[in-house]
Amino acid sequence: MPTSPSPHRPSPRSPYRTSSDFCFEDGNLTLCVGQFEFRIHRGLLGRHSDVFWDMLSIQQPMLHDSDPSRVILHDNPEDVHYLLHALYDGLYFNKPFHKDFPFLAATLRLSCKYFITIPKRRCLSRLLQYFPTTLAEWDRRELASTDSTGRYCPRDNLPSPILVINLARSLHLESFLPAAFYDLCRYGTSKTVVGTPPFPSLSFYSGGAPAPSESNGNAPSSAHCSKNVHLSHNDLVLTFRGRESGQRALSRFVEGYIAPREPSPTCLNKNIGAGQCCREAFHLVMINTLRSVGGIASGRDADPLYTLAQMVEMMHRTDWIDGDTQHGLRICLPCKADFAGAVNAGREETWRQIPGWFDLDDYQALLRRDEDVQQDRPLMSAVV
Ligand SMILES: [Zn+2]
Repeated sequence: MPTSPSPHRPSPRSPYRTSSDFCFEDGNLTLCVGQFEFRIHRGLLGRHSDVFWDMLSIQQPMLHDSDPSRVILHDNPEDVHYLLHALYDGLYFNKPFHKDFPFLAATLRLSCKYFITIPKRRCLSRLLQYFPTTLAEWDRRELASTDSTGRYCPRDNLPSPILVINLARSLHLESFLPAAFYDLCRYGTSKTVVGTPPFPSLSFYSGGAPAPSESNGNAPSSAHCSKNVHLSHNDLVLTFRGRESGQRALSRFVEGYIAPREPSPTCLNKNIGAGQCCREAFHLVMINTLRSVGGIASGRDADPLYTLAQMVEMMHRTDWIDGDTQHGLRICLPCKADFAGAVNAGREETWRQIPGWFDLDDYQALLRRDEDVQQDRPLMSAVV
């Protein structure tokens, strides 16, 4: 069993700063990463990664002090810190997702690079919980992001989709991209262009101050710059095009399924003005949808899935105003059920269309491709 980390005892001549969390008295391997070093256990690293096992089984380039137990990694020191945290302490996500995201992203980056299978699968699984490939999971996520007063507050718990998209692009993982793009495209374009603040740097070495900027070259940008994190130009264009596609899809649905809607064949009002009450109910829902009552009032005017859900919700509301009185829609149950079925089918179709809005393949193809990526061997050139 590994011992507890030792107190920081820097070598007087060492040019490296020592990790305060990963400097074990009985460590037999020192990872030198940028300006930092981690004194850990060779067996633990080799047990989790064939790549590390192979690398540590052959003669490695030694550092200037001719110590064969010292290995240089060309990675981000924070990423290495997080990976060691996952390997030594377990990959537990106990915080709200947006606070755990730096831990997840770093662990996923290095798990992909060094073929560490279990952490990689767990990180992907957690990402797909919040950026899913099914409408049912998306609805669950959205419900969880709405508080008891009805306020929609996803950013209280979820990381910015800009960070998620950049992570996916850097690792060539795509299954969680459609939901991340859809999440992002609902926000105002100026807000998307401005980007999102980076995560604060860790204080993981003795001395306490944040680690200075280090680059491993494979992360698009995250916690290591003072400026906001942005999308690439291409992804920015895709986001805006997707936003327009969503608005067109909603418009087509209203024109194709709501405006010409006839009462149900089993309409209970068909002998009263040929179902006029039910026709008027459809018309009222359409007018309020076109006025974006379901979207603008809650800042979600570019969210077709939400707007469609609101159409069904309107059927059940009892606060329609007629003069001085409030009432529910005068629509019969068969027409209400038919309408809800049509709208829910429209939501399913909208969900299926989302990958195409952002120039992505369908969900199943993306999931298969990500599974293939997980089977691939990483490049040994990643390690010197
Ligand atoms: Zn009816």
